[in-house]
Amino acid sequence: MRLAEGLAELLSPTRCAGCELPGALLCPDCEGALPRIDPRTACPRCGAPTRGGACVECAGRAFAFAGARCLGTLEPPLSRMVVLHKDAGERRLGAVLGALAAEVWLATPPAAPAVPPEAVTFVPASRDALRHRGFDHAEGIAHAVAARLGLPCVRALTRVRGGDQRALGRDARLAALSCAFAPGPEPTPPRVLLVDDVFTTGATLHAAALALRASGCAEVLALALARACGG
Ligand SMILES: [Zn+2]
Ligand SMILES: [Zn+2]
Repeated sequence: MRLAEGLAELLSPTRCAGCELPGALLCPDCEGALPRIDPRTACPRCGAPTRGGACVECAGRAFAFAGARCLGTLEPPLSRMVVLHKDAGERRLGAVLGALAAEVWLATPPAAPAVPPEAVTFVPASRDALRHRGFDHAEGIAHAVAARLGLPCVRALTRVRGGDQRALGRDARLAALSCAFAPGPEPTPPRVLLVDDVFTTGATLHAAALALRASGCAEVLALALARACGG
């Protein structure tokens, strides 16, 4: 451990993001209590939990991504971890949760594409969010996913407009998100795994996937940490 890290640990010991127990960012009890979505019965289109029947979350919605997987539902302790990561600046949680999401992906990808994704990319934060938080919250998650999958993480998108969408309903989100994304500084991979932290209506991932496909990507698959159902 470097001296700076040692001092930081002394002044503010690492605590579990779920229960505040000192020691690790995610204690074994809280890891066991994560509201995981069973990938065997999850909706292959949107990643929502189902009881094996038709998905009520994405019925009637068209997505530009071919399938989606989510680690868990947006409930404690996962919801708390997402907030601590995004809004309290606990950037190490992005790596922890990204690695867990990658495990789910490896075990059961939502579709069985003939050719798997060649790279991982992420939904870039708006300029306002970047200024406010000081980091791009989905980027760290995507890097952890890419490392676990043995794929490069590329910046294939930029955000051209659109701020925080969380307070908006689906129609308002769709209107705000149209044309929100443009090709990024790195070339668009032919097949890509698109990462974000929360899947609510799917509108953000859809808009990002549309931009990727418009710049030549043949297939986009989506992976999120948390599925907010009823969005
Ligand atoms: Zn805990
Ligand atoms: Zn669905």
